[in-house]
Amino acid sequence: MSTSETYTFDCGCSFPVIGPPPSPGALPLLDVDENHLPACKAVFELLSRGDTKGVFQLESSLGRQWSKRLKPESEEHLCALGALLRPGSLLTKDEGGKSMTERYCMRKNGEDSVVAYHPAVEPILSATYQVIAYQEQLMRIGRELAGFDKVAVDKLRKAVGKKDQQELAKVEKLFIDGCKQKGVVSDEVAATLWGYMKKSGRYLFNKSHAMSYGLTGYDTAYCKAHNPVAFYANWLLYAQLGADPRQEVAELVDDAKRFDVPVEPPDVRDLEPTVSTNGVVVRFGLADVKGVGPTMVDKLRAAALAGEAALGRRLPDWSFEDFLLNAAPAVTSPAMHAWCAVGAFRWTGKTRTRARNEYDAFSELTKLEAKWLTANRQPGEGLAAALSRLARPKKEGGGVANIKRVQAVRGLASLLENPPSSEADTPNLVADQEEKYLGAALTCSRVDSCDISMVNCSCKEFLAGRVGYTALGVEVKEVRVVKTKAGKNPGQPMAFLTLADGSCSLTDVTAFPDAWKKFKHLLVEQNTVMVEGSRDQKRGTLIVEHVYQL
Ligand SMILES: [Zn+2]
Repeated sequence: MSTSETYTFDCGCSFPVIGPPPSPGALPLLDVDENHLPACKAVFELLSRGDTKGVFQLESSLGRQWSKRLKPESEEHLCALGALLRPGSLLTKDEGGKSMTERYCMRKNGEDSVVAYHPAVEPILSATYQVIAYQEQLMRIGRELAGFDKVAVDKLRKAVGKKDQQELAKVEKLFIDGCKQKGVVSDEVAATLWGYMKKSGRYLFNKSHAMSYGLTGYDTAYCKAHNPVAFYANWLLYAQLGADPRQEVAELVDDAKRFDVPVEPPDVRDLEPTVSTNGVVVRFGLADVKGVGPTMVDKLRAAALAGEAALGRRLPDWSFEDFLLNAAPAVTSPAMHAWCAVGAFRWTGKTRTRARNEYDAFSELTKLEAKWLTANRQPGEGLAAALSRLARPKKEGGGVANIKRVQAVRGLASLLENPPSSEADTPNLVADQEEKYLGAALTCSRVDSCDISMVNCSCKEFLAGRVGYTALGVEVKEVRVVKTKAGKNPGQPMAFLTLADGSCSLTDVTAFPDAWKKFKHLLVEQNTVMVEGSRDQKRGTLIVEHVYQL
């Protein structure tokens, strides 16, 4: 299909349109050559903010931290970042006491002058701010300064990458002798250079490898920046197949909130077993619910198809009663309970507890009683009313077999009319159930149950850079207690916290020893609190000053 229409993103990236959006508000179908994605400022900004969840090679906390530190502005930077995110580069300190990774970041950001170790290595290391980042650079030094041939250069590469002291000594001799013969650098420079190569060369990556990783990282970040809905839909789909789906789902859902991508619980009307998207929202599938497998969804689909034929109405036009009578009998009670709990019947307007109570009452009926309901239910009639009519002997127009059943069915109807406990969807209940069955609270947060009139900032607003006095209404998600290493009195317990409200979560919130001592009884996982604090100017994270129970 040829068209002259193009779609332009806010960042300026522009692509030919080859199809309409799958739903209103979604991106149109674009012709994107994934092998030639344009260089885009928005992608580098995303990486510089440390928004690296789901970005290849950079999604660990180390990757996020260093991406933020480096603030990459080119594919070359991303490539070097991947190569320098290794224990060797992170731990090996240079004569100034900085790791290679830190040195590279300092120089890239203009915090340190870029000084060539020697004019002879200047062009070799020019792309990496005079830091040895790749094996290829090491090999070129060997070639140009010591006159190494291909065989010797490969020996050099292997020797510095391994621990074999004998082999290392052999290559050192070759290098020093070679430099002497070639005469580009003095013996002294050759010796110090060798020390440097030995130290930094130990953990080097080759550039081709690092580049392919860096480009893959760029591509994933590009998707995240330009089509976050598809990005999260795909990652959430993939999360279900991973080793720890719950943790991954929790992290992805939290991250999606930061990108304003709505993630919804499943909806039985979709009959979708897995995560899906219409281009605007991401929705979990019916088999993503804990304890429900894809075969259960197959059974539901078969029953729904038969029900549609019997009723002459499509599933999206059914009432909850239609569903109970026509589809629910095909699936197990734990599956129905789980779907009720996550709000898969929210289209009926019933609360989750109400849907479950009605299902429970319905499943107490005998087959014949259910059949009577199917034949005799009046249009628009609720289950409680239908059960009251059913609870009469046959000769009185009812549908039960004997007086015992009259009483039993009346009991069910009266339970539905006057439920013994609240059927409200409280935020606590909804959050609990979504966490239990899906791995993350999607619809609300426990904080929504609290009085937050004193709160002046959401977690998302704090992340967006809000300044001044901050009072957050949050749930404590994670507490990590550590001992202080420095300061007047080392060895004091303090804590790093993850706090969350409905907007997203905040990590690395710090409770220093005094605050931790005072408020640790409140800073307990799942507790809802108001945290007052201020921003750490250097690290940008929140420092806890006061905590109140919410
Ligand atoms: Zn762009």
